[in-house]
Amino acid sequence: MSHDRCLYSNMVALSPVLVLTYLSYFHSAVLSFPLDQQSHDTSSCGYKSCHATVPNMLNVHLVPHTHDDVGWLKTVDQYFYGGRNDIQHAGVQYILDSVVGQLLQNPERRFIYVETAFFYRWWKNQPPSMQKAVRQLVDQGRLEFVNGGWCMSDEATTHYSAVIDQMTLGLRFLNDTFGPCGRPRVAWHIDPFGHAREHASMFAQMGYDGFFFGRLDYQDRTNRIRTLEQELLWRASESLEPPYADLFTGILPNGYNPPKGFCWDQSCDDAPIMDDPDLEDYNVDDVVQRFAAAANSQAMAYKTKHIIMTMGSDFQYENANLWYKNLDKLIRYVNTRQANGSQINVLYSTPSCYLQELHRANLTWTLKTDDFFPYADDAHNFWTGYFTSRPALKRYERVSNGRLQTCNQLEVLGGPSSRKGPFGAGDSETLREAMAVAQHHDAVSGTEKQHVANDYARRLANGWQHCQVVVSNSLAALSGSSAGRIYCDNLNVSACPLTEASKKFSVNVYNSLARPVVWPVRLPVNASAYTVLDATGTPVDCQVVPMSEATQQVRKDRGYAVNELVFQAQAPPLGYSTYSVSVLQNGPPSASVKSGPPAAIQNKFVRATFDPATGLLDSLTNLETQQTIRLTQNFYWYNASDGKSSISDQASGAYIFRPNSSSPFIISCTAETESIQTPELQEVRQQFGPWVSQVIRLHSNSKALEMEWTVGPVPIADGLGKEVITRLDSSIASSGVFYTDSNGREVLRRKKDFRPTWDLRQTEPVAGNYYPINSRAYIKDDKDQLTVVTDRSQGGSSIHDGSLEIMLHRRLLHDDWRGVGEPLNEMSGVFPLGLVVRGRLLLSLTPPALAADAHRPLAQENVLQPLLSFTEGGPPPGSLLEFSGLQAALPPAVHLLTLSQWGQDSLLIRLEHQFQTKESKEHSVPFTVNLQKLFSTLKVVGVSELNLSANQWIDEMKRLDWRPKMAAKPLRKPLGDPSMWEVILTPMQIRTFILRVAPRR
Ligand SMILES: [Zn+2]
Repeated sequence: MSHDRCLYSNMVALSPVLVLTYLSYFHSAVLSFPLDQQSHDTSSCGYKSCHATVPNMLNVHLVPHTHDDVGWLKTVDQYFYGGRNDIQHAGVQYILDSVVGQLLQNPERRFIYVETAFFYRWWKNQPPSMQKAVRQLVDQGRLEFVNGGWCMSDEATTHYSAVIDQMTLGLRFLNDTFGPCGRPRVAWHIDPFGHAREHASMFAQMGYDGFFFGRLDYQDRTNRIRTLEQELLWRASESLEPPYADLFTGILPNGYNPPKGFCWDQSCDDAPIMDDPDLEDYNVDDVVQRFAAAANSQAMAYKTKHIIMTMGSDFQYENANLWYKNLDKLIRYVNTRQANGSQINVLYSTPSCYLQELHRANLTWTLKTDDFFPYADDAHNFWTGYFTSRPALKRYERVSNGRLQTCNQLEVLGGPSSRKGPFGAGDSETLREAMAVAQHHDAVSGTEKQHVANDYARRLANGWQHCQVVVSNSLAALSGSSAGRIYCDNLNVSACPLTEASKKFSVNVYNSLARPVVWPVRLPVNASAYTVLDATGTPVDCQVVPMSEATQQVRKDRGYAVNELVFQAQAPPLGYSTYSVSVLQNGPPSASVKSGPPAAIQNKFVRATFDPATGLLDSLTNLETQQTIRLTQNFYWYNASDGKSSISDQASGAYIFRPNSSSPFIISCTAETESIQTPELQEVRQQFGPWVSQVIRLHSNSKALEMEWTVGPVPIADGLGKEVITRLDSSIASSGVFYTDSNGREVLRRKKDFRPTWDLRQTEPVAGNYYPINSRAYIKDDKDQLTVVTDRSQGGSSIHDGSLEIMLHRRLLHDDWRGVGEPLNEMSGVFPLGLVVRGRLLLSLTPPALAADAHRPLAQENVLQPLLSFTEGGPPPGSLLEFSGLQAALPPAVHLLTLSQWGQDSLLIRLEHQFQTKESKEHSVPFTVNLQKLFSTLKVVGVSELNLSANQWIDEMKRLDWRPKMAAKPLRKPLGDPSMWEVILTPMQIRTFILRVAPRR
């Protein structure tokens, strides 16, 4: 995979000066990076490069573009090279070859390019002469980068941390390669299937002046066309002070396609402009007339004298000559008519040039504060299935994010030997790129073909192999021991060859959070008693339990342990702790398993009771706050519509959720149960039938109730596609209201059968009420809040009062006609009868006012789980068994979102206030962090603040200002930092810095 290596990863190794070149060129203060040697002329790119428009005429901005999916029906490699054209005719390398050639022929022409994952591959294959020519096109604004992330991320199923990383990766390449003229001004999400508020907030913080997209609910669009509100101001945060998270948002007129009759790509059949008047087929008058009609009709739905037309579509412009030759003529012939009184002026343009004209119009715009979910393209066609599609890939992507953050951190903490040490040469770049690709709107979304899903997973696994070397090298450097390290990637099914076979081993628990954690470690073992010692040699309470039959079934022959060893590991902030485990001869027997449900399981914080008749959960109590709710939980499936009769009879598929009845089928009214109750661990094992089981679990000091579900293979012998949910039914008076998070960050209020900005005609009582859940959802009343923290993105809803349901797995027998062309029917080598998926939900019951104090840290722990690594035998004598990279833990409200190597002696760091305003009495207040007092092994000698995507100095970030259609609140002055080193974080704020560091002696 050497061709997959990123260009600038090599630049980091060669010259940190180069990497920082463009940033330092236009930065004045604090960090004294060497100034750029090559001066860079920005006077002819960006807004300055726009063609003139004609006042008082209808100006039609033609935007030539291509939409290049970073994997969908073909893998990202196949798309780049044009392989497997039998699946879909698409080859990105030819598109860029062809477009650049056409741009060079005529300086009037424009093109925008979006997906840096493709562009950088093409760029590095170009000879210097071509690179020089392209640089000139960029400098003159003829080739403009838009969005500019590695991919165009999905908005429903992504976590903000991974989105920020993928944007940073793409924008850094553009910045390193093209400087300020390569910086996109506009965010461009023309294809994602619904739009998240957190994405808008992030785009605002990344410095974008505006945002355009193509898809929104069909009723919403009709309404906005009527009220001329397809262009608006999105206020994307309840916590950040306006206009910090305000983003001008435009909805494109034809999705991202050209108006009907004007597609001149080789993949289209529309007539070219035939302009020889002697010809029988001469059609200039007809084309001009039809174009004027299309433009005038479109103008009716927008407010200004400017409209935008997206001239392109999926993988178009492979033969760009066809498009440009006809567009040149269109512009010429339409504008010629101005002499005869035509009021239409048509021009080559870009989204930023169009945006500039909207800004110049100096209007006020309606303010939107909710989001654009769920997306329906018709009455029975809600794109809410992909919130859950491919649950194993969604989990693997989430796990991989944790691994990437760990790898990035350890690369910093271990110093240069992390990249080249006793375990060889490793890098974080491969995983960084694999994660960036996985954010694409047909990747983690689960809407790709099966072979492409396999390719995404393979990339993540391959990336992790590279990162493991970094982690091993770094831990060797930090601990002083280069003993061989083993990683057990199958611990979720309790398989780990080392712990199964070894009589004595040690476990390194690395915690990537900036505060200490206590984490339940669960390892497959074969003896019945063990001694576990912590880093100081003190024995730790532990428990051996027999492995459940359900786990043995999913594990299959990947392991052979009969027991599991459970203990609570504590790990310091940004550091590790090492535990020694050895078999205890003549120790106590493993915990006994009792059949039947217990009356209750409990620790000092939580009690859960069970119904003796059904074996189901019956109530949940918070023992600290003395509150109890009735709570039962079970598993159900919706029968997926099969859409047999016609295309208009919509089937459930990878994108769309369409149950053929609003009442789900129960899998079993009762569960066969058994239980284990020891002081260390209490668990109830429930079997709901051959393909659904669950363990409800309480560790001795956990404040949340864990529900570990295992679902699959979903049976299809009855010919019915199934969408499997778990449903919690409680005594909470939720009154049709529930709450879901946006990309793992701020929470939005949802109301059943309701949309905040239009009168909803609800046509799908279940699917039309589904929303994405990225890390949490809750219901509440005055007294009680029940919060569910998830371990991956899933779809969910509250269909009945007091109820919360989460879709766990989907197995479907039909395609849903949205392009993927395959039913979502996952089978694999390990599970030939159908995919088995395991995951967990964490339940927390609190008063509403205390809920965030529980779910914010809980969700963060779940996203960034500790990394376990193992060594055979006891810890080597003299090795350092415990280490923290921080001088002290950060306050609970402050999350260390990013810590990664930037240049040779500089780091990229992001500090995040992870509480919303007003959600916590204790934590929703400003906190100050002293950057010089952060690290235990690194001295911070320089600091400079950047925008969220790290491609612009914060003090250079000047965005276009937009006025909302409402009385403006006087702006509060942001809190000033006490000093250069002490930075203040207010609720939901993320601040991004480059730190120049030196080792602390
Ligand atoms: Zn797409």
